[in-house]
Amino acid sequence: MNRTLAQIASMSGGTLAGSDEAEKKITGVFTDSRSPLKGGLFVPITGERFDGHAFVDSCLAEGAAAFFWQQDHGAPPAGPAIVVEDTLKALQQLAAAYLKESQASVVGITGSNGKTTTKDIVNALLSTTFKVHKTQGNYNNHIGLPLTVLSMPEDTQIVILEMGMSGREEIRLLSRIAEPDVAVITNIGEAHLLQLGSREEIARAKLEIISGLKRGGLLICNGDEPLLPAVMSEPETERPEEMHIFTFGLLQDNDDYLTGMTTHDRGIIFTSKMGGQEAFNLPLLGRHNVVNCLAAMAVARHFGVGVDQMRQGLAELKLTGMRIEVISCGSGLTLLNDTYNASPLSMKAAIDTLAGYNKKNRKVAVLGDMLELGPLEEQYHREIGLYAASAGVELLFTYGPLGSHIAEGARENMAHESVHAYSDKDELAAALREALHSEDIVLFKASRGMKLETVVDALRDYP
Ligand code: ATP
Ligand code: MG
Repeated sequence: MNRTLAQIASMSGGTLAGSDEAEKKITGVFTDSRSPLKGGLFVPITGERFDGHAFVDSCLAEGAAAFFWQQDHGAPPAGPAIVVEDTLKALQQLAAAYLKESQASVVGITGSNGKTTTKDIVNALLSTTFKVHKTQGNYNNHIGLPLTVLSMPEDTQIVILEMGMSGREEIRLLSRIAEPDVAVITNIGEAHLLQLGSREEIARAKLEIISGLKRGGLLICNGDEPLLPAVMSEPETERPEEMHIFTFGLLQDNDDYLTGMTTHDRGIIFTSKMGGQEAFNLPLLGRHNVVNCLAAMAVARHFGVGVDQMRQGLAELKLTGMRIEVISCGSGLTLLNDTYNASPLSMKAAIDTLAGYNKKNRKVAVLGDMLELGPLEEQYHREIGLYAASAGVELLFTYGPLGSHIAEGARENMAHESVHAYSDKDELAAALREALHSEDIVLFKASRGMKLETVVDALRDYP
């Protein structure tokens, strides 16, 4: 980022102190003192357990060019300090200013599930035609989003920002920083139900994304979710002037919807209303991913990306890991590693993916706890068990205390000897080695906190 310390101070509302190097340029911005950026600006954040201010000296020693300093922390240590009222707010203000000065158009993506996947597809489609910058991994919160913006090269044409949340007002903050030209809501699910209390509140929280949408901006949202128009028409919903809306989904009253799909081993060939006769090959499994793809194609179409470029983009698609990653073991066994995270909506989507896989393979599911679901958590788990049983899962393993309720639900509809509940990962892995056959297809899914990928790793070299 081609900015001098004097410019950074003015963009972030701070004052440059202790330096006669006002014209010195910084190479970028970082908050993690464990990986200092040479020539970068260190932004110490005051957290619950650590205060970044304690690491200013070590960051300087390792080559940082300057640092923010929060004024309530006394006098800054020697060196090029930019003194600000609040380092976190100053970081956000700096990112907002940097975006405003740039020529880049902004795409903001939120939703309960599928944000990162949709972001990756949007990136693949837009990169065929534009110079694109996107959120790395899951840097989607009040710190990650500003850092993503500030790592954007000057010549970026479109920046794609994932916006995550765990409560109200968080998306509003992100949307006001980013002021998107295009906002995407992938769906409304049950993730963060514990913090928000109801699906309506989740919908309100996601719709905060339009509060920062530019005048005349485009909202691309999942039209299968009746809560979105309901919340949108609530008087307290803040919406920009002249907002355009484009809906996608499975239902036929959407602007774009799926008209046909066939699944092959590594992906799905599909057609949609907007594409007419044109078939697209998405190298991902799961109908939910085709829906994510419809959202991404709406973004690409908005920027004028043509059908041939979209095809080329899809062919080059690379996903961030552990989202229905297909692993073929030597023996013919196939593992579906979807252990990145889980909530009821995404569990059902993954079970559908497993059930729709090649007929010849035996369908095995290894499902673990879905966390943060609130008081109804046991019921949600039992329902997943019932769902798995009726979808055609032939052998079910569960992991964790809540997972045992998945097993309980499944037993209502499955032979008891086909359902096994475990609370220890080593025992689970050993039982899987014992039970699996070479032509099985095995889905692994649980909340992030369960780290179920270690069981996948234990089976990678099977037999
Ligand atoms: P996070 O909130 O953790 O950032 P995310 O919204 O970025 O999650 P992804 O990382 O894209 O979501 O996907 C996480 C999981 O959600 C996937 O592994 C998949 O199981 C599920 N998922 C993705 N898209 C959908 C969808 N449209 N509907 C239901 N489930 C989905
Ligand atoms: Mg994500």
